Amino acid sequence: MALPDIDASKLTTQRTTAPKELADPKTLKFGKGFTDHMLCIRYTEDGGWEAPEIKPYGPLEIDPAAYVLNYSVEAFEGMKAYRAADGSVRLFRPEMNMKRLATSTQRLMLPAFDQEQFLLCIKELVRLDERFIPNEHGYSMYIRPNFIGTEPNLNLQYSREALLYVYMAPVGPYFPRTVKLLASTTDARAWPGGVGSFKVGGNYAPALRPTMDVIKAGYDQILWLLGDDHYVTEVGTMNFFLFWTNADGEKELVTAPLDGIILPGVTRDSLLALARGWGEFKVSERKVTMPELVEALAEGRLHEAFGAGTACVVCSISTVLYKGVDYLVPVDPADADAVYGPLARRLHRELLDIQYGKTPSPWSVQV
Ligand code: PMP
Repeated sequence: MALPDIDASKLTTQRTTAPKELADPKTLKFGKGFTDHMLCIRYTEDGGWEAPEIKPYGPLEIDPAAYVLNYSVEAFEGMKAYRAADGSVRLFRPEMNMKRLATSTQRLMLPAFDQEQFLLCIKELVRLDERFIPNEHGYSMYIRPNFIGTEPNLNLQYSREALLYVYMAPVGPYFPRTVKLLASTTDARAWPGGVGSFKVGGNYAPALRPTMDVIKAGYDQILWLLGDDHYVTEVGTMNFFLFWTNADGEKELVTAPLDGIILPGVTRDSLLALARGWGEFKVSERKVTMPELVEALAEGRLHEAFGAGTACVVCSISTVLYKGVDYLVPVDPADADAVYGPLARRLHRELLDIQYGKTPSPWSVQV
């Protein structure tokens, strides 16, 4: 007989007896201050998935020898709930986060799970704590699903026990500003045969030291390069895009291909689809190297460069330090103080209008 999978109809809810006071939205800091409840679903190899539980937000009890604490058997997701002008609460392409979580956890030998049923449980959690989403446009509630191996066992095999849990944090609007990047020629985020395409915690801890080095040097984020040809892969925790007139004289929006090194961003996929839908210029997923970028800049062919991710949607790049030279990337030739280039601004606006339910789209899913 098949062991039980996640079953949202078995979800139980234990409400908090000490509801938190809502913070002044203006004081919200990303990733700090969590909502009242969390969702927990336990798995054992012998018993399968247990009934999902929503309970008050609080510490987890984990054996010190758990796989996650020794070998980083952990994958996670990042998504948001948005409140539309009509008061409805919406998720943005949540099935893509479910699928990416399943792909990431497969890589860690964590168990498969029913993605639709898990999403139903998440929606229930969002409904329960929806008072934490401020009404003002631009605010949202960040949702962090985590999947960890909990079996206490030092044997390097796989975790026969696991915990899937979700907690949430209200987040303020992203105040757009351009970012200065330092292109690292020494540290790589991901490499062929590695795990760059999976959202596993083990990819993030080693990025901390290089990231802090960049911040200490007066830059905002790291531009991750790879290999001797300095292939431009990602920006910090965002996918990288550039808009240029390519060497063949064509206008082209380019981002790195999903070649196993790149995290398949939901924002990345959405921007590509929007731009392809316009049909106004070429849209490509292909490798671009730092020397190609520098050449395009020198020849006045680079129009814009930006990062893309859930946190900011798009974030225009103003400077890239590469081999000791600060290269200035155009943001908006018509506006010296611009925080977005014209294309980044248009993509940002169109995506936000979908996320907040202003433009009807199957991508926006009512909770
Ligand atoms: N690259 C990396 C390394 C990331 O951590 C993220 C954030 N998940 C992204 C890209 C952007 O992905 P998304 O658009 O799904 O937020």
